[in-house]
Amino acid sequence: MFGQRHVRPGPMVEAWLVEAMERYNEESLARREAYAAQVHLPGPVLQDLVWWALQALPDEILVGLDVDGGREHRPEVEDAFAGESHRDNLFAGQGFVISEAAVVNRGDSYSVHHLPEDWTDDLFRSDRGSRGGRFTHWLHTHPNAPAVPSGADADAAQETLGVDMILGLRFSPEGPLPWFDDVDGTRRTLAAPEQPRRFGRRGPPVLGVAPSGHRIHEIQLIAFHRTGLGVNVVLVDDEGWPYGWPHA
Ligand SMILES: [Zn+2]
Repeated sequence: MFGQRHVRPGPMVEAWLVEAMERYNEESLARREAYAAQVHLPGPVLQDLVWWALQALPDEILVGLDVDGGREHRPEVEDAFAGESHRDNLFAGQGFVISEAAVVNRGDSYSVHHLPEDWTDDLFRSDRGSRGGRFTHWLHTHPNAPAVPSGADADAAQETLGVDMILGLRFSPEGPLPWFDDVDGTRRTLAAPEQPRRFGRRGPPVLGVAPSGHRIHEIQLIAFHRTGLGVNVVLVDDEGWPYGWPHA
């Protein structure tokens, strides 16, 4: 589990996830005025994150994310998703597409934020080169809970150079963690659209099934800056185009 990495070119993205990402991007576009900045996350990376999150249950995982300094956001996409309150130079890596993801810890909602010392030494020495530095962005998971930051999450974000992201997942079988939704905060969801219930069907609609066998009912994803400003997530393909982007 530790050291699981996303490598390019990414895996094929499941068709149901592509559809869900198209819906998410539509909402990101519609709500652009609520955000101070944007971050572009490739779909193959998101898919890996969802699979890793489910493999690590019942733990949460902490994932370090880096950008590709040679891969800027496509300007026409950046322009389309920028709101009036857009701010430049808000965080490290701003304007560059996320390219790398590596699982660096797992644990409960408090311990997950602390990097295991010996392991990070090794990671930074052998894989991080002369930068010897930290990851640009961080993401952690909320199994069967919404992607809304806790107090501990806000504290941990204070040391982040880029942005903090939270991936919330609703899935079944639930195991020891039934869906917990009693939290205040803005939701950003890749939920299945409302549809009429077939007679006799039980439980919430299924978005897709993971390799771990879990039925995924909902994926939530948010990003925020340490100041508390919201950062809009745009889910892009390997060419940097948002899923659902109207190609001419
Ligand atoms: Zn959290």
